[in-house]
Amino acid sequence: MPKMRRKADLPRKTCAACGREMVWRKAWEKVWDEVKYCSEACRQGKMPSGKGGARPPSR
Ligand SMILES: [Zn+2]
Repeated sequence: MPKMRRKADLPRKTCAACGREMVWRKAWEKVWDEVKYCSEACRQGKMPSGKGGARPPSR
């Protein structure tokens, strides 16, 4: 059995907003259990692009 696993051992999660997989980061080591979104935009409920907009452009 080859023992060549390093970065692949990092925990992963799925973003609650966009559904993308995000890999553990050093910056999250203390808040990993609380991390739900891959980015600030997702945390604020702003979808980067495409569907998801709950409101029409105007009015
Ligand atoms: Zn996201």
